[in-house]
Amino acid sequence: MYAKALRRAFDRAAALLLEAAGQATVLTGAGISVASGIPAFRGSQGLWDRYDPFEYAEITSFRRQPEKVWSMLGEMCAVVERARPNRAHEVLAELEEKGLLHSLITQNVDGLHQAAGSRKVIEFHGALRHLGCLECDWRWLHFKLDQSEIMPPRCQECGAILKPEVVFFGESIPDWALLEASSEAEKAGVMLVVGTSAEVHPAAEMPHLTKRAGGKVIEINLEPTALSGSLSDLTILGPAEQVLAEILLACERLQGHA
Ligand SMILES: [Zn+2]
Repeated sequence: MYAKALRRAFDRAAALLLEAAGQATVLTGAGISVASGIPAFRGSQGLWDRYDPFEYAEITSFRRQPEKVWSMLGEMCAVVERARPNRAHEVLAELEEKGLLHSLITQNVDGLHQAAGSRKVIEFHGALRHLGCLECDWRWLHFKLDQSEIMPPRCQECGAILKPEVVFFGESIPDWALLEASSEAEKAGVMLVVGTSAEVHPAAEMPHLTKRAGGKVIEINLEPTALSGSLSDLTILGPAEQVLAEILLACERLQGHA
């Protein structure tokens, strides 16, 4: 049983979503994929606990020693390949299906939102399953992540070691992703912030864009963040998969009453 205050928060989140009449977006981060078996990079058991990110996720070190970086990437690919969408991913796909969510901006590179059925997904930091050649323009889309026998994967045109199209430290977010995400954030009557403390720029600016344009920010995180009690109009603390499922139920209840 949920406490009354929590129940009211689910109802308020649902009411705000319904009021936005489809002009809502969501910003997701690593926290949403933890229940799918992908540990947050920064936490304990996270990859950055064992691999120094500035040695393994920095673009100049990739250019210098791609084989070494692929030893970490191979491990990451194996984890992501085994992962399946959880209830939080599914609910976001259902909200889009119901016309309550216009788009989804994710900082994750795991592809779980698409696997859950979300269609308008802006992968802000790229996607692990897309590989590109730094020497020529050859790309390998929808690379199957469990092909450990061919790691590190090579370009079929020039033989260079391929790089996943994820944004490494020292690289910038692709212009189109930034433009598209900013435009979605500005149009949104509501932005859900799920499983992210939204501290990494420029993703961190997205909730501010929504707010400045007059929209509301609903935050769903395990612990309070810098947004809680300041930028967020509503903060619900709890596991994303439970909180989002409750918000979906509340939407259905309110719609039933309409
Ligand atoms: Zn090439």
